[in-house]
Amino acid sequence: MESNIKDKVVVITGASSGMGEAAAKHLSALGATIVLGARRAERIEKLAKEIQENGGKALAIAVDVTQREQVKNLVDAAVEQFGRIDVILNNAGIMPLSTMDSLHVDEWDKMIDVNIKGVLNGIAAVLPYMKEQKSGQIINTSSVAGHKVFNGSAVYSATKYAVRALTEGLRMEVKPYNIRTTIVCPGAVKTELLEQITDVEVRKANEEYVGAVGISPDSFARVVAFAISQPEDVDINEIIFRPTSQEL
Ligand code: NDP
Repeated sequence: MESNIKDKVVVITGASSGMGEAAAKHLSALGATIVLGARRAERIEKLAKEIQENGGKALAIAVDVTQREQVKNLVDAAVEQFGRIDVILNNAGIMPLSTMDSLHVDEWDKMIDVNIKGVLNGIAAVLPYMKEQKSGQIINTSSVAGHKVFNGSAVYSATKYAVRALTEGLRMEVKPYNIRTTIVCPGAVKTELLEQITDVEVRKANEEYVGAVGISPDSFARVVAFAISQPEDVDINEIIFRPTSQEL
C-alpha cells in the first residue's frame, strides 16, 4: 500500500516537545513536509534544522495558538512556502491539573484558551484552504481524559471532551469537501506535560503514575501516521490508545 504520507504538507502545533515533536520526526521520516509551530522558537528551529539535515523538508514558525492571527499566519506560511496544506495536527495543549475547590481560576482560563480555542483557531485557519482544495485532514489531540474524569481533571477533561465534540460536529459538516477528521486520545505518555501542574500534591501523584505506566511519545506518532496513511476514502475518526498497564 502506498503510505499516503509522502509529500503531504503537515502543520503541527505543539511541535517543540513531547508528542508533537515525535510526530514531526516520524512523519518526516515517512516523507512528509513538516511545518512546526510552538512558542519556543529556538526549539522548533533546531528541530527543523535536524529534519533538513536528515534530508527532509521543514519550516519552523513561532506561534501562540491562543492568538487567532498567529495561527492563521502559521497556516498561510505553510501554503505560501509549499503550495498547499494536507494535514493540520492541532496538538498544542496544557494540563495544569488541580481540584476545583482550590480555585486555580487563571489556569482554568488558560486551559480553555489553549486546549479549546487553540484547536478552533487551527480549524479556522485551514478550512478555507481545504474546502478550496477539496481535500485535507484535521487531526485534533484529545485524551483518555476526554472520555473519563479523574481527581483533579475536571477542567482539563472538560476541554478534552470539548475537542471531541467539536471534531465530531466538524466531521459531519466537512463531508461535502472531502475533508477527513481524526480525534486522537492518548493515555499516559511521558512528556513535559506535567511540568505546569502547580498543585504540589496533584503533580506528585501524576508524576508517580505517569512515571510508572507512561509510554513513549513515539506511540502517538505511529497512531497519527496510521490515520494519515489510510487511502483517501477511509476516514479514521477516533483512536484511543493507552499504555497496556494503564487501568484508567
Ligand atoms: P508537552 O508539554 O511535551 O507538549 C505540549 C506542546 O504544546 C509544546 O510543544 C508546547 O510548546 C505547546 N504549547 C503549549 N501552549 C501553547 C501555546 N499557547 N501556543 C502554542 N503551543 C503551545 O506535552 P504533550 O506532548 O504530552 O502534549 C501534547 C498534547 O497531548 C496536549 O494537547 C495534551 O493535552 C495531550 N495529551 C497528553 C497526554 C500525556 O500523557 N502526555 C495524554 C493525553 C493527551 P511551547 O511551550 O513551545 O509553546
